[in-house]
Amino acid sequence: MPLNTQKAEFIRSAAGPKDFPRDPLPQVAFAGRSNVGKSSVINRLLNRKNFARVGAAPGKTTHINYFRIDEKLYLVDLPGYGYAKVSQQEKARWAKLIQSWFDDPTLMSLGVLIVDARHKPTADDKVMADYFKATGRPYVIVANKLDKLKKSEIEPNMALIRETLELPVDIKLIPFSAEKGSGREDLLRAILDHMETNPKTASVAE
Ligand code: GDP
Repeated sequence: MPLNTQKAEFIRSAAGPKDFPRDPLPQVAFAGRSNVGKSSVINRLLNRKNFARVGAAPGKTTHINYFRIDEKLYLVDLPGYGYAKVSQQEKARWAKLIQSWFDDPTLMSLGVLIVDARHKPTADDKVMADYFKATGRPYVIVANKLDKLKKSEIEPNMALIRETLELPVDIKLIPFSAEKGSGREDLLRAILDHMETNPKTASVAE
């Protein structure tokens, strides 16, 4: 099934469960630490410059942004985490919102967790990977900022990410550079493969 990534529209910014779309379209959720490059990965995936806001003010993180792609799926931009300067109150709001999203088992179809290719995943990354794992739904890990690694560092770093997040062997780890575009085809393929095999999307795929 082809996916026209040029056909992308902003749907809404959800502050709580009553705002979550619940129609049959599959929901592909993107998560990652603030500044990991989540907006840049989304923009690269859609081949857009300023679709998801790059460098959006850290701290403005308590909404879930919904985009609809080609009328076939929702791209769900979960708020970034792990920004040191966020208040306790805002952290609590983030946690409540994320919990309410993951509490509804009908929402996530496919998860995309973005981590930094250069570093060992943080404790927060591990918490998010465990959220994804607990859904029982498929997910992939994107290791972004690959362009900042020497060639010799790629393999050991990927092994460290896999080990730290305790990824099951069938979970894909995609080396990615939002800056250079590497990994885009692999991520797109993972999304398309998912749509072709996911019963929730069968009616949409026809
Ligand atoms: P977000 O907070 O996770 O949405 O992160 P942004 O997309 O705003 O990116 C944070 C910073 O990382 C920006 O300065 C980006 O230009 C930079 N960045 C994002 N992706 C890459 C990448 O693949 N390579 C490099 N070198 N920089 C990147």
